[in-house]
Amino acid sequence: MTLVKSVYRGRFAPSPTGPLHFGSLVAAAGSFLEARARGGEWLLRMEDVDQPRCSMAAADEIVRALEAFGFAWDGEVVWQSRRTEAYAAALERLKAAGRVFPCGCTRRELADSAIAPDGATLYPGTCRHGLPDGRAPRAWRIAVGDTRISFDDAIQGRIASDLASEAGDFILLRADGLFAYQLAVVVDDAEAGITHVVRGADLLTSTPRQIFLQQCLGVPTPGYAHLPVAVNAAGEKLSKQTRAAPVNISRPGPALIAALEFLGQRPPQDLRGATVQDIWVWAMANWQLGYVPCGPAQAGIGQNAARWDNRADT
Ligand code: GLU
Repeated sequence: MTLVKSVYRGRFAPSPTGPLHFGSLVAAAGSFLEARARGGEWLLRMEDVDQPRCSMAAADEIVRALEAFGFAWDGEVVWQSRRTEAYAAALERLKAAGRVFPCGCTRRELADSAIAPDGATLYPGTCRHGLPDGRAPRAWRIAVGDTRISFDDAIQGRIASDLASEAGDFILLRADGLFAYQLAVVVDDAEAGITHVVRGADLLTSTPRQIFLQQCLGVPTPGYAHLPVAVNAAGEKLSKQTRAAPVNISRPGPALIAALEFLGQRPPQDLRGATVQDIWVWAMANWQLGYVPCGPAQAGIGQNAARWDNRADT
């Protein structure tokens, strides 16, 4: 008799543009705990597809930080920078299906275009039905038509999106020759057999695009849970751009407790000062996705955690 193996496979997919900060720790912890609490696997993928913005040193730092925090992933780390052929093959399939078109527009020419709710430029459709005379292809875009996408997010609830007004014909292959994150993430999740995506709600506006791409490529759509985003006192998402402090890997316990609290979990007082191993034992036994707040992003909490984390050093 064949036993059906674990059907949950999650992942953490950081972009190595800088060291692990509190916001990425939250995403790592939420995806890890949900996977382990459901008896599933948890994979690590370095999203270094946007090579000019990424560095090997940052990737190394992230791996070292995850180790110091006691995360354990299944299998080898996947590197997007080594997967160009898979992305190219997916683009060829979309070309063969007539879903994509070459675009000759420059950034400047698109500067006056309408803006999507998330700030992205809505492509006006100039090259959708063929490149204008004398134009060379610069990028490849996918035509979204009048597609509407809806899905049930395990934390954020029902999300519905009209791609034409909220995303437009988005880029899959950029003018600089690099594949876009939206295509890479869909190809990678499908190939790895990811069943559940748990990540920050800053990516919520990308999810309808990714579901659309999954449908175009004929691959399964995973379940989604978007975690609240950690913001600083100014309400900005913690990131390299907003100069988020790296997590303190020499004393990981306090930041791990802060991440659990940020995720709505209720670690007992006597866990403060415990080792990360003990914190994980408690967290895995007590993890409740239902306690995770749906947002809006909790202003200040990430900042407090960073301060607390630094204080723990002194
Ligand atoms: N690489 C993305 C980021 O660090 C996350 C992508 C994902 O989880 O799908 O924001």
